[in-house]
Amino acid sequence: IPTSVRPFTVVLLGDNGVGKSALASIFAGASDSMGSECELYGGEVFEQTITVDGERTTVTLLDTWDSQGEGGWTQERCLQTGDAFIIVYAITDRSSFLRASDLRIQLRRQREADRTPIILVGNKCDLVRCREVSISEGRSSAAVFDCKFIETSAAMQHNVWPLFEGIIRQLRLRRDST
Ligand code: GDP
Ligand code: MG
Repeated sequence: IPTSVRPFTVVLLGDNGVGKSALASIFAGASDSMGSECELYGGEVFEQTITVDGERTTVTLLDTWDSQGEGGWTQERCLQTGDAFIIVYAITDRSSFLRASDLRIQLRRQREADRTPIILVGNKCDLVRCREVSISEGRSSAAVFDCKFIETSAAMQHNVWPLFEGIIRQLRLRRDST
């Protein structure tokens, strides 16, 4: 199976507490049929080789957004480093949803005229009785900002792999069209 040569760097963004590290640890715990080993640097940078649509792709996932200053991971550096971004909010926390919109604007400003893949993620969708942001609000916010959208539950491991597979497909589309 062919493997993409250069690893893609994917950065997790979003408010503290929305579930970024929970999503990262599911990613880190994965191991595909080829038995790839996950590498861990300081607990915030994860590397994984995943087979999607018959092609192996190595992804470096950064969970460095909340650790400002540590290891030199300023927010500016996080925003410049990514080939793609996962912007996470919690469906149980409207302020995290508003923050996600701010992040989207900040990204666009910093990377003007850049077709960087971005996926908006409404996490904690298992907490149905505490929902503060509807699916349609999430979907239309993503449409406004021209990015993909998915609801996940890291706790239930629901839609977490479709999230990572989706971002890999977006990265390949972009790679193949340049
Ligand atoms: P981070 O600050 O964005 O890295 O968020 P964490 O991954 O540390 O998660 C914050 C809290 O939310 C922890 O107590 C997690 O166990 C919990 N959490 C994360 N994802 C989910 C989820 O999908 N459902 C539920 N119910 N709790 C979650
Ligand atoms: Mg965290």
